[in-house]
Amino acid sequence: MQIAVIGTGYVGLVTGAGLADFGNDVTCVDIDVSKIDALNQGKIPIYEPGLDKLVSKNVQEGRLSFTTDLATSIRAARAIFIAVGTPPRPDGSADLRYVEDVARAIAQHMNGPKLVITKSTVPIGTGRMIEGILKQSGNGHTASVLSNPEFLREGSAIEDFMKPDRVVIGASDKEAVELMKEIYAPLHSLEIPFVVTNVESSELIKYASNGFLATKISFINEIAVLCEKIGADVHDVAIGMGLDSRIGPKFLQAGPGFGGSCFPKDTSAVADIARQYDYNFQIIEAVLRVNHDIKERMVDKVADALGDPNGKTVSILGLAFKPETDDMRDSPTIPLIAGLQKRGATIRAYDPEAMDNARTMFENVSFCRDAYDAAKDADALVIATEWNEFRALNLGRIKSLVRQPLIVDLRNVYDPQRMKAEGFQYFSVGRKA
Ligand code: NAD
Repeated sequence: MQIAVIGTGYVGLVTGAGLADFGNDVTCVDIDVSKIDALNQGKIPIYEPGLDKLVSKNVQEGRLSFTTDLATSIRAARAIFIAVGTPPRPDGSADLRYVEDVARAIAQHMNGPKLVITKSTVPIGTGRMIEGILKQSGNGHTASVLSNPEFLREGSAIEDFMKPDRVVIGASDKEAVELMKEIYAPLHSLEIPFVVTNVESSELIKYASNGFLATKISFINEIAVLCEKIGADVHDVAIGMGLDSRIGPKFLQAGPGFGGSCFPKDTSAVADIARQYDYNFQIIEAVLRVNHDIKERMVDKVADALGDPNGKTVSILGLAFKPETDDMRDSPTIPLIAGLQKRGATIRAYDPEAMDNARTMFENVSFCRDAYDAAKDADALVIATEWNEFRALNLGRIKSLVRQPLIVDLRNVYDPQRMKAEGFQYFSVGRKA
């Protein structure tokens, strides 16, 4: 099928390449000329493992192309996926201006029946809003508006797209659902479940899923606080809980609070949606408060370990919100670094992939070549993102570089006993030092 994917960011590019690999003819569209130019030169503008190979294979086989020409792409496509950003507004609600822009462009250029599919995470009612815009097009063509939320995780996006736990389709028209099944045909043979429902339920499934996962993270983070107070070990508690098949082991890793482009904005948005419907979503409101407090707690943790951060050098290992991505959006390292700088610390930092993005976000941070360069003359080394290369540090070399052997491990990467034996003062999250 001829497909246009509008918005070529983390989700749009993976969706475009994935749908092309499923055998569709895909054009990825973006208004960012530099992004499209880079892609047309064979360069991938984001870091996502395996994406370069998937893109180049499908480009070479003639099923994937990139353009800024929205009008031509809309006219050529039978199915149009909207994958533009839906960033948070200051009040927490989702900013739909990019989705609206695309809907208006589709209305303007529609030249036949179209499927218009929201891949972006959008508030309940957005599908109806897009329908309203398309009805005003006045050129006599009809569109079926569907919701098809995306559940991929940055860092394992290709695997998640190619083998999802489920495909959710919200639609009010049966023929449109059949066309969606054609687009995703290879997933049928893998017996991936398709959840077909109405548009509103589909839109809510995405927010409910992210809200629930964020709740799990905040829950274990509060358990970690309790562990520190009572002398329990959050790692053991999480294992003991996670082996219960009703709970499951995932999203029970205590850490510096959730970040990234999805959980913070989607939990804020679901709280806002509830408020619009005159309901106070108490659990989600609490999750947001806990996450904010946990981030502040991490600043205190480093400050307390140092005694007084004023005039001290802190080395931050890892800047991205999670490993295997260069995404800095809402990373917990942003309030961590700001908090430590406010208390007078000097920051040295290193991340394997996120340095270019980080450079645009921080002031007065020395960006280093690698973990060892970052460790030079540090009064404290903070492991903020659990990249594999930080799991296997040469501790002897680190010790010879730092000013004092003090590690604050916000991801519980190391064993406290081993660190003690290696001669480090070691602090982690929810475990005894
Ligand atoms: P992104 O910021 O990486 O990409 C959005 C792209 O849309 C940008 O390249 C931007 O230039 C482009 N764009 C904006 N307006 C446009 C227009 N009028 N025409 C063409 N292109 C336009 O965002 P993302 O991380 O890919 O997220 C996209 C959506 O997917 C969001 O709603 C997000 O919540 C959702 N989502 C993201 C993830 C994730 O892990 N990043 C996972 C699931 C769902």
